Amino acid sequence: MKMICTKCGRQDEPVTKGGGSCLLEIVLWFIFLIIAATGFPLFSILLLIPIAYTLSRFFIRKKDVCSACGSEDIIPLDTPMAKKLLKDLEDDK
Ligand SMILES: [Zn+2]
Repeated sequence: MKMICTKCGRQDEPVTKGGGSCLLEIVLWFIFLIIAATGFPLFSILLLIPIAYTLSRFFIRKKDVCSACGSEDIIPLDTPMAKKLLKDLEDDK
């Protein structure tokens, strides 16, 4: 859904910030599985690394931010505030 930034006025799809990388999580689990498969004696300790990463990804809230300035103050385009903002931007031209 398109959003408008109240800071810079950009209308665009927001970008998601934070929450870590899904690819990195898969890679971590993959490395762990390889280590587990080799029967490495400390693999149960190493298991904590991918678990910690998965948990941190789960608990760190993902945020949608403006694609231009990175502001979190973005609102959906179909809201009255967005319409007012769009009108103000039009008037400035
Ligand atoms: Zn912005």
